[in-house]
Amino acid sequence: MIDLHTHSLFSDGSASPAELAALAHRVGLSTIALTDHDTTDSHEEMAAACASYGIDLIPGTEISLVDSEFPIERPGQAPRGRGVHVLAYFLPLDPASPMQQFLTSLRRDRATRNESLVTMLQGFGFEQLTMEYLLTKVAHPDGIGRPHIAEAMFTLHPEIVGERTEDSWRAVFTDWLGTDGKAYIPKTELTIEDAVAAAKGSGTVFSVAHPLFNYLNSITHETIEREMPRIMGSLRERGFAGVEAYYGSTTAPTRALMVKLTRDAGMIPTGGSDYHGSFKPEVALGVGLTGDLNVPDHIADELRAASSR
Ligand code: AMP
Ligand code: FE
Ligand code: FE
Ligand code: ZN
Repeated sequence: MIDLHTHSLFSDGSASPAELAALAHRVGLSTIALTDHDTTDSHEEMAAACASYGIDLIPGTEISLVDSEFPIERPGQAPRGRGVHVLAYFLPLDPASPMQQFLTSLRRDRATRNESLVTMLQGFGFEQLTMEYLLTKVAHPDGIGRPHIAEAMFTLHPEIVGERTEDSWRAVFTDWLGTDGKAYIPKTELTIEDAVAAAKGSGTVFSVAHPLFNYLNSITHETIEREMPRIMGSLRERGFAGVEAYYGSTTAPTRALMVKLTRDAGMIPTGGSDYHGSFKPEVALGVGLTGDLNVPDHIADELRAASSR
């Protein structure tokens, strides 16, 4: 079993890289990718810990980009670029590489977004919520994300958002922080094409993260079969090798359909749990939300082969 989508406290996970590696060892992973948002700073600690357990570590990150080929169209609104999450594997770790420079730009855009978001929330009555407060909650200032902000909203302003439960957590994203929420602010204007250009010749392999949640409003099999082949074909043409078909928050039949469509598109079905520790306590490393995720070991070999092509 492998897990190619995980977060540590270098972004919006709660475990340190060493704790994550220990957990990976306990659940029996042979390969793991640590995919913190917009950074590979967690890699060094993770590499040492994984080596001590004999677990293969794939360098990775998860980045938010704009896909302008599939804009969001809503009645009465101008179409806008779609924000999508993308996994990058085997990216170069050299800070001077164009890909790492690209991550630096993404972190700058994230910091700007965080400041605007905090100001906006203060205007909506979340007066205790400040950047200073958020900075005390993270290991790494670059790592502040919406889950930290959601947690602060519950800690500081239960009179507005109520007690934290699974339902109220979801509601904070629907009502405030998610793409349709009243405090939604896009992070970046950098596109899929920009990322592929920055990665050129570096062996980086891109896979679109949780594609059903990025691209579709409904995830019935009818909708998936109608829409996904076109989306996968377009991503492949633009330089993507993978699709996160084995996603730990979808059911086994949906994953099976996605694996088939991904193979039909000539792409690699990647997969992972999207483990965030206590930020998503219902999601388990390796086996995901449903408890029956099991990403086959050979997927890691296919990614390795794609990286050296
Ligand atoms: P950010 O990196 O600040 O854009 O935040 C993205 C993270 O917020 C994701 O990785 C999820 O952990 C979380 N998130 C985004 N949308 C939702 C949602 N609708 N429900 C729960 N968590 C979400
Ligand atoms: Fe996250
Ligand atoms: Fe994501
Ligand atoms: Zn993720």
